[in-house]
This record gives sequence, structure tokens and C-alpha cells, in this order.
Amino acid sequence: MDKEVGREIILENFQHPMHKEEIHDENYQKVNTRNPNCIDNLDIYIKINNDVIEDISFMGEACAISTASTSIMIKNLIGKTIPEAKEYIKNFYAMCDEEEYDEDFLNEGLAFQDIYKQSNRKNCALLPYKGIIKALEEYENK
Ligand code: ZN
Repeated sequence: MDKEVGREIILENFQHPMHKEEIHDENYQKVNTRNPNCIDNLDIYIKINNDVIEDISFMGEACAISTASTSIMIKNLIGKTIPEAKEYIKNFYAMCDEEEYDEDFLNEGLAFQDIYKQSNRKNCALLPYKGIIKALEEYENK
């Protein structure tokens, strides 16, 4: 992805994040994810039904990178089955760890393809994923 396009995607998702709202609904699981090296402290709400992710929202304090990353993650995960979601998450992590990954999975997530160069920012980009992984584990152990 072109660097300028990537910056625009991050800015757009920061200024107009997808589903930034608190949820009060017992059909949602709530997980907290925070980053000690940044202001990031997010609650993530996820609704899973029959192993399909039906909805995700988030609320809390977060920097531009983690806000944009959360917004992009939400767009990419809603409607996915748990195995599909794990495949997406695996590829996003691989990209951030400078390992081989499949671009076709990531869509706007490719805006973070150079994030591995800045380890602080990388933790911000991965923050929502840490929350989702926790939520998926809780769901599967229910
Ligand atoms: Zn941050």
C-alpha cells in the first residue's frame, strides 16, 4: 500500500472511528485492553452468536494509532466466523512482526504495514487485537 494512502486511512479511521460507543447489553462480552506505554485504555464489546462475530464496539481513551487500528479491526472482523477472525488476526500480527503475511486478508489493515519500524506504535496498533484474543478465549472456554 502507498504510504500516503496508508496515512489517510489511519487519519480517517481516527477522526471517524467505526462503532465507538459503550454497550449495555448482556449479549455482549466486555474485555479491557490497555497499553502501559501509552494512554490507551479500551473496553471492547463483542457479540458472538453461533461462532460468528455479529458486532464489536469500543469505548475509552486511545491515541490516534490505537483508535484507527481498533476501527479498522472492527470493520474487518464483523461478520467473520471465529476461524476466519483468527486467520485475519494471525496475518495482522505477522505483518506487525515483519513476518510473511497474506495481504488479501488485511484490507485497510495494510495501512499499518510499516508499523514494525516503531516498536511503541506497534503496541498501539496491536492493542485491540489483544482484547479480541482475550474475548475469543473467554468465549471458547465458556
Ligand atoms: Zn497508543
